[in-house]
Amino acid sequence: MATLAERLAAIETKIQDAARQANRLRNEITLVVVSKNHPAQLVVNLVDLGQRDFGENRDQEAAPKAAEVAIERPGLANWHFVGQLQTNKVKSVLNYASTVHSLDRESLLREISKVASNRGIEVEVFIQLNLTDDPERGGIAPENLLAFAEAAAASPGVKPIGVMAVASLDGQEERDFGLVAEASQQLQTVVPSARFVSAGMSGDFELAISYGATHLRIGTAITGSRPV
Ligand SMILES: *Cc1c(COP(=O)(O)O)cnc(C)c1O
Repeated sequence: MATLAERLAAIETKIQDAARQANRLRNEITLVVVSKNHPAQLVVNLVDLGQRDFGENRDQEAAPKAAEVAIERPGLANWHFVGQLQTNKVKSVLNYASTVHSLDRESLLREISKVASNRGIEVEVFIQLNLTDDPERGGIAPENLLAFAEAAAASPGVKPIGVMAVASLDGQEERDFGLVAEASQQLQTVVPSARFVSAGMSGDFELAISYGATHLRIGTAITGSRPV
């Protein structure tokens, strides 16, 4: 069983190799370690190994964890919220997260804009795409992306920085990452600065890099299997 440091280093090597193969620079790719289901101490250990960006998907778990890490290692962790976000949790999430990867509907856009402008802050958001035909899965359908992006760009306190997707579970990652890359190009025609792509998890990040992912959300490959 490898140590945390060894797992982090192994993933780093794979990211570098995949970037080189895709003729991309390592420093245009951000590794977000998804620390859900693990205690604050794991985040502290990763901070001490030089890792700075962390992702969480539930506010109830993330808020106390971020507070604890802020005491142990002040100012060193950047928090990304990557999970489905209820509007009544936005106030809490924006206390620690500077980036939301999961902007997936208009009511959430309105709430983030309201809270951010009240506080005089700007929140970076990825627009989450729904790559399936199933509206229940959540996310913005690619055909609605441009209208939604314009609304986001016009919302005070909100800065759209790119698109986000979770590859669907049907094993068609290449098709999915291709759609994400296309959506990213479209988005940049209306918001030229929104060039980032949040895609790729433990099982598919190398492929995601070949399709232009700039933000990898990697959990178990680094953190190990999750303590219950
Ligand atoms: C848990 C999670 C991840 C990380 O998944 P792994 O397979 O553990 O790498 C990435 N993105 C989101 C939205 C998640 O909830």
